[in-house]
Amino acid sequence: MVSVLPYGRQSIDDDDVAAVVEQLRSDWLTQGPTVGRFEEALCAITGARHGVAVANGTAALHIACLAAGVRTGDVGVTSDITFVASANCVRYAGGEPSLVDVEPETGLLSVSALESRIAELGRAGRTTKVILPVDLAGSVADLPAVARVAQRAGACVIEDAAHSLGATYEHEGTTFRAASCAHSTMAILSFHPVKHITTGEGGAVMTNDDGLYRELLDLRTHGITKDPSRLEANEGPWWYEQRRLGFNYRITDLQCALGLRQARRLPAFLARRREIAARYDAAFSSGDLRLQMTPLRVPSRTRSAYHLYVVQVRARAGEGLAEVAERRRALFLHLRARGIAPQVHYIPIHRQPDFVRSGFARGDFAGAERYYAGCISLPMFPAMTDADVDRVIEAVREGAPR
Ligand SMILES: *Cc1c(COP(=O)(O)O)cnc(C)c1O
Repeated sequence: MVSVLPYGRQSIDDDDVAAVVEQLRSDWLTQGPTVGRFEEALCAITGARHGVAVANGTAALHIACLAAGVRTGDVGVTSDITFVASANCVRYAGGEPSLVDVEPETGLLSVSALESRIAELGRAGRTTKVILPVDLAGSVADLPAVARVAQRAGACVIEDAAHSLGATYEHEGTTFRAASCAHSTMAILSFHPVKHITTGEGGAVMTNDDGLYRELLDLRTHGITKDPSRLEANEGPWWYEQRRLGFNYRITDLQCALGLRQARRLPAFLARRREIAARYDAAFSSGDLRLQMTPLRVPSRTRSAYHLYVVQVRARAGEGLAEVAERRRALFLHLRARGIAPQVHYIPIHRQPDFVRSGFARGDFAGAERYYAGCISLPMFPAMTDADVDRVIEAVREGAPR
């Protein structure tokens, strides 16, 4: 297939194309019935009661923060290892993001670091309004533990499930689905082409709460409602009211026509992602490679949806992070020279200049620094053949510094 192997890419087939063409010839390009049908498909996949599909995952994060009531001066806590959108959404709502360290072996939010941060914020008289755990690479964060901390703090949990559509986790003998909102107030999804299913750009907020659902619908469309039971006046069938300041964050029916088709293909996508992960895992857990590289640990409580396949360059005895990072850099460049386009997920947010200005200090994130120094995301997408996977493994074997 493609000559350069990217870390992720969409799979679009002829039926996907036909579905979009059919939608183009229909009465509805936007604000039509396909949006609702796509939202129903998302509810069926995740098990959440409501879904509000929007223009992208970042918009989903933004309106989720607003619906959760984030206001000027409120604090929203998220992981230091995530895409910047998970923290920016708190700022869009006028709040202040606070970053928490991760477990270096999983890259997931450290619950003990979360607890101490919230205690610290409390002592400083700050209100933690939302906690945004991130399901990095497709493993679900420890949501039941985060939910306990949130409950004590009086905060909402917004699960950033952009990586975890189709993942599950166990808690007290029961299996739960990512973005089901069993242990969160809301969850967000993204349908960017590298994610599990795509609409080009797209996202959604899932929730089990009827009131939040109505609020999210309003926020997606300018803060406007036409729901007769919520109007202050009603002068006729044309009547609508803007109840609060919202946005045009709508997704189109064209996009949802693609999304619906992609949702039907999700089980096959997930199965293939897991096969690819198993092939990588086998290679990295045997022979010489076992000494050079360690796959990102997937906690036993969760079954990953493998949005990403992350491996870590192993630190040698006595080696510092700078040396590990240098070997990761060499491996990255070697792969690039071999026609493979890996990526690094993610540069710790506290290192971004726009966040450094807010006073985040490197020393506070020892787990994130350790995670970041060695991590590299290898190609992982459903259309990869076994030969593609073997080509990547071979290139890592050549490029892994001895
Ligand atoms: C992709 C992604 C988002 C949302 O991104 P959009 O490109 O706006 O859809 C949010 N959080 C994480 C962790 C992501 O990977």
